[in-house]
Amino acid sequence: MNLADRLRKIKEEIPEKVKLIAISKTENVNTIKQVYDCNHKIFGENKAIDVYDKYIILPKDIEWHFVGHLQTNKVKNISTFVNLIHSVDSLKLLVEINKEAKKKNRIIDCLLEFHIAIEESKYGLSLNDAEGLLNSEMFNILENIRITGVMGMATFTEDKQQIRKEFVNLRKYFDLIKGKYFAEMDYFREISMGMSSDYKIAIEEGSTMVRIGTAIFKP
Ligand SMILES: *Cc1c(COP(=O)(O)O)cnc(C)c1O
Repeated sequence: MNLADRLRKIKEEIPEKVKLIAISKTENVNTIKQVYDCNHKIFGENKAIDVYDKYIILPKDIEWHFVGHLQTNKVKNISTFVNLIHSVDSLKLLVEINKEAKKKNRIIDCLLEFHIAIEESKYGLSLNDAEGLLNSEMFNILENIRITGVMGMATFTEDKQQIRKEFVNLRKYFDLIKGKYFAEMDYFREISMGMSSDYKIAIEEGSTMVRIGTAIFKP
């Protein structure tokens, strides 16, 4: 199968209401353009410098998502054009995003990243951390960011039950936060979960956005 076929096959497997983010972090602009030419215009990257370089070169109707760990000093690189930051894991980062968004006269949409895996190394908030953030006075004065949902990465394992359990957990966090902090806000509706190896489980458990790299780009 070539790139176009792999993309088409994945799109056929994903319900229409689930958004596909093509994770192009290891791909060059020519390969990304090939996907773009198949009429797919939503891409995700995990390095601020790389996404900026690609944004400059590629067509401007691409929707760029940021999915990696974001350092505060890199926020300015992406703040003019980023469509959604999936990986907010501290109030400090949110404050910085707000500051840069304000300078650019924008409102930047963000997801709260939760640590749902058993691995130690992954970034992300606990439910407690997230509630601390949402309850803080600082959070409540931020006018140039909008929290539109949650994101999480499951453990890298063959154990499907474990993966499912982690996605169910993220869904529970979403429901809880929605009910407690965003009940009236229609914009709080995204659950970003599912990658090449586990997107089918993620969709079964309520994902609204899947982030897929390998299954699209690697034969
Ligand atoms: C790389 C990456 C993906 C895509 O992973 P694949 O297994 O290649 O589909 C999704 N989310 C994040 C945060 C990533 O860094």
